[in-house]
Amino acid sequence: MFDSLSDRLGGVFDRLRGRGALTEADVRTAMREVRVALLEADVALPVARSFVDKVTEQAVGQNVLRSVTPGQQVVKIVNDALVEMLGADASELELSVTPPAVVMMVGLQGSGKTTTTAKIAKRLSGRDRKKVLMASLDVNRPNAQEQLATLGTQIEVATLPIVPGQQPVDIARRALQAAKLQGYDVLMLDTAGRLHVDQALMDEMKAVADIAVPQEILLVVDSLTGQDAVNVAQNFSEQVPLTGVVLTRMDGDARGGAALSMRAVTGKPIKFAGTGEKLDALEAFHPSRVAGRILGMGDVVSLVERAAESIQAEDAERMTARLAKGQFDMNDLRGQLQQMRRMGGLGALAGMMPGMKKAQGALATAGGDKMLIHMEAMIGSMTLKERAKPELINAKRKIRIAKGSGTTVQEVNKVLKMHQEMSTAMKKIKKMGGLKGMMAMLG
Ligand code: GDP
Repeated sequence: MFDSLSDRLGGVFDRLRGRGALTEADVRTAMREVRVALLEADVALPVARSFVDKVTEQAVGQNVLRSVTPGQQVVKIVNDALVEMLGADASELELSVTPPAVVMMVGLQGSGKTTTTAKIAKRLSGRDRKKVLMASLDVNRPNAQEQLATLGTQIEVATLPIVPGQQPVDIARRALQAAKLQGYDVLMLDTAGRLHVDQALMDEMKAVADIAVPQEILLVVDSLTGQDAVNVAQNFSEQVPLTGVVLTRMDGDARGGAALSMRAVTGKPIKFAGTGEKLDALEAFHPSRVAGRILGMGDVVSLVERAAESIQAEDAERMTARLAKGQFDMNDLRGQLQQMRRMGGLGALAGMMPGMKKAQGALATAGGDKMLIHMEAMIGSMTLKERAKPELINAKRKIRIAKGSGTTVQEVNKVLKMHQEMSTAMKKIKKMGGLKGMMAMLG
């Protein structure tokens, strides 16, 4: 997601940073390009306009243009404005009430509502160790209730037994009762969708909300529908007290316009992003990290977190410490390659790692995850000295490594280039004051 926007902005900023001094005209030209890039990413026009106006005003300020690194400063201003546009104060679910906390899911048919209900339930019951009950109030779509029950079985989360013919408000009442009596921490209500926003749907949702008094009312919208998603969200938010939005199909949304304008247009934070059909394809939405990804700084924080989930804690700590120092040798690269495989391969990590983006293209053409295994073999064929100091690897050594790993010199070159790019990115991070500094900069 955000690939083309990220590429466009990357170009604009490279040009800005490439110059020593900047004039007001330089900044204005760059900001015009930023505006075009936002509009091409399908960001709503008023949102793009106010974003650019605000950034321009700050960027042409005396202190910025006179500073030692004006280009870098402008990028920081854009970053901060992006974070704000995405909803700086976005939070995860607010469930700290006397249990059961009720989470009500609303949205149009086909938006991914039922799937997302199960995804959130899985996250709450697994990661957060909550006892979760799910209930489908969808009496319109045939088999909707059965669909949720099937998902419940898959993720080992309880669903309310189906009583044929019962109406949504009555199901909500029964679900609440069951959740209270049986000591559930969270009750998730999957309400009925419709093909369009209509009054009957709104009335039904209001009636359910009156009975269930939800702590969270999450609107599920399909990010692929772009501006329509934003319009749907605006419609809903005028009628129901939404607490947040979940954007689904972010895995297929290269442009990202819905994500970028959602907060500004609706005033509601994006709480989660759906990134695939599988039930663990759900990410908490962190504006600062997303902004970092868009600006090509890579989402190191998420990467480290993801890594921490799949590797030993001490490994993660060591890795974080090395990243913070800007160190990155072949052993680090090998560690990352191994983790990548464990974490679900390249696709899952695309764009998360600084400097990976360019290497990604090469990897994809070379056959993706199989390439990962080859790369590990190549690093395995390097001596310890070579791994710590890859610059030692000359033509002769390359031939030896290729032979030892059953690969070619071209492939060895690719690994070296990839290491080089990542290592440069790490140094950049270090310049920004290490991982901590970067995080501070990201907000
Ligand atoms: P509902 O009618 O809103 O309840 O929609 P469903 O939950 O039944 O989802 C409709 C389809 O979208 C299903 O095939 C889901 O697997 C798929 N889907 C849901 N969320 C995502 C997502 O984040 N990414 C992708 N690729 N597919 C999704």
